[in-house]
Parts: sequence; C-alpha cells; structure tokens
Amino acid sequence: MLKKKKIVILGSTGSVGQSALEVVKQHQDKLEVLALAANSNVDLLAQQAQEFKARYLSLSDTTKLEGLNAKVANFNQELQLRSGEQGLIELATLEEADIILIAIVGIAGLEPTLAAIEQDKRVALASKEVLVVGGELVMSALKDSQAELIPVDSEHSAIFQCLQLESELESDNLSRQVSSLTLTASGGPFFGWNSAQLENVTLAQALKHPTWDMGQKITIDSATMFNKGLEMIEAKWLFDIDIANINVVVHPQSIIHSMVEYCDGSSLAQLSMPSMTLPILYAFSYPQRWENCQNTPLNLVQLQQLTFEDVDEQTFPAISLARKSIEQGGTLPVVYNAANEVAVELFIQKEIGFNQITALVQQVMNQHQVQPVDSIDSILQADQWAREQSAIEAQLLLTPTD
Ligand code: MG
Repeated sequence: MLKKKKIVILGSTGSVGQSALEVVKQHQDKLEVLALAANSNVDLLAQQAQEFKARYLSLSDTTKLEGLNAKVANFNQELQLRSGEQGLIELATLEEADIILIAIVGIAGLEPTLAAIEQDKRVALASKEVLVVGGELVMSALKDSQAELIPVDSEHSAIFQCLQLESELESDNLSRQVSSLTLTASGGPFFGWNSAQLENVTLAQALKHPTWDMGQKITIDSATMFNKGLEMIEAKWLFDIDIANINVVVHPQSIIHSMVEYCDGSSLAQLSMPSMTLPILYAFSYPQRWENCQNTPLNLVQLQQLTFEDVDEQTFPAISLARKSIEQGGTLPVVYNAANEVAVELFIQKEIGFNQITALVQQVMNQHQVQPVDSIDSILQADQWAREQSAIEAQLLLTPTD
C-alpha cells in the first residue's frame, strides 16, 4: 500500500483550510492530517482535531490556549499543543510532515514558509502575502533546497498546470519559451461600473461576489481588483516573468483560470467550473491527478459562451499600482499589501468609502522610501511603517479640507 502523505494545515479554520480538510476526507487512502493550526477559533479547531485525529495543534492567539487545552483534554488521542508564532514554525518543520499548506491570513505565513522550505518540504501556498512581501527571499531559499512550492491560488495553479506539460524541458529553456502569462479576473461585483458609481458602494454590495465564495478580505479585494494586483506580484515571483508580460483580462464566468502563451503563438489554458478544492487537491496530488468528487464537470455547450474584456484601469487603479510596486521593487510591494489591509479594514468598519481604499494605498505608496528586501526584518519594518502611515493618511482623508 502507498504511504499516506502527512499534511500540516496552517490556517485550518479559514475557508481554504476547511476546503483542504474536505480534500483530505475524500482521499483518506492517500492523505492524513498530521497537524492543524488556527488563529483563535478554538471550537472549530478542536472539532477538526478530533475528526481528523491530528497529532499536533497550534493556536496563534495565546490567550485562548487554556480554553483549547480544556476542550481537547478528553480526546483519546495523543495530542501536542503549540502556540504563537513559534508554534507555526514548529508545525511547518515537523519531521514526519510531507506537505505544509500555508493558508493563514497576512504575512504571518512568511516565516513558516521559509522554515518549511529549509526542511525540504512540499509547500502548498495559498497565502498570497507570502510571495507578495517575501518573493525574493522565498524564491532564493527555494533554489538552495529540495523543497517544492506549489501554488494554491486558482490562477497560479492554472499556470503551474499549463507549464507542467513542458516539464521535461530544462527550466531555463522553459522561461525562454514562455512569452506571456494571462491572469483571468471575474471582475468582481462592480465590473462595468465607473468610479462615480463606486463612490457610494456599501459593504454588503462589495461582499457579494458573482462567482467565488471566499473570506471577507479577499472578497473586498476582488471588488477593488487588489486581489488581481496581488496575484500579478505573486506570478512575477513564482514564474520568474517580466511584469510587462503578465496580462490581466476580465472573464466574468471564471471558467478559464489563467493561461500561458508560448513563443510559437500557442496558448495553453486550464479550465474548470470555479472550485476552491481543485487547486488544493492538485497541490496535494501533484504530479499525479486524483479524482475530485466535488467537481461539477465542465459542460461547454451548456455554458454557451466565455467572454473576455479589458480591465478598466482608470476605475480600478489597483492594477497599475501593483505594476508600479513591482517595477520599483524592494519594499514597495510590502507597502502595497499592508496599506490595502488597513484600508479594507477601515472600509469594513464603515470608516472610509469604497474609492478611498485605493486612494489611501496610493497616498501611502507615494510617501514610501523604497528599501531593498534583504531580510525578514526589512519586510516587517516596511509593513509596520505602512500600517502607521495608513492610519495617518486615513485621518487626513476623513478631515474635511474646507
Ligand atoms: Mg485567485
């Protein structure tokens, strides 16, 4: 019998984490849960630990550790508890672990990702921020190791799958043969709107995504197109391609998840019904493919048409800001990401309007003095600076000028 792959899920109570556990449930003959980590949802973490017989748990919110301890005390399984940032790193480097799924919010995933790469693990990467802020560090660590980095974001998984067909080629050779990447975007709930119409958008409207059911932050990011901007930065690092050759096209049906154009003019695309489990499953099964019972088969005749349009970059400046952050490089993508996080939070708290999300990020980026990213510290410092500056800028935005 095949040895089961032991899975560590950092962020098991979030939407990607829960989908990953569905994948494990479907493939119990091939996968087993070794460890689970959550931020603060003690009830769900304990329930998952019992159901999947996890052997290690980690909780980032240390104030709730006792509560977790009490909940799991009666489980008739040997369970070890860890906590805080160190707990994530310990879980990411467990000797028995085969695959580490990084699905935690924000830049908290960076250090566990680097630690897992150092231990030659397969990293299934769902947290965009890891490559957005730490692309340089992560890709150079990867070069010096036997680790594998498999993207879980649907667009990057699509590109990764299209490139696998060419995997027999030397990788250097491959990058010379790829002429461009096209990331598809659903366009979010406000596709076709202009900026005057966006002025008074409500939180409820922004949270209504047409094709994907995801967490709150990423749903707002889809509405502003920051999600696609973050994905452009992620793609640049993952596939080592010039930003000028990364295109974004609005494709409201979300059937083509992204595509690769080769130098001979041939394009390869990956298609499926929108599904969060498919890219997770592929990151676990790669280089094989396993059955996916949750998949609705693609019926092209029923779909009738797939449509494509340019992004309106005037209305959605998140795309051009992403391009600027990559071109200037260094700590600017860190600032792009952190300022957006603060702005989205302020929008959720109803303190700023929808268009002010982008305005705030733009202001903070303009004021940043770009530094090279040569350590985790340089990232954390830029991140901290951007958060403080965003709070100052938000006050200015809210203060009437006359
Ligand atoms: Mg995506």
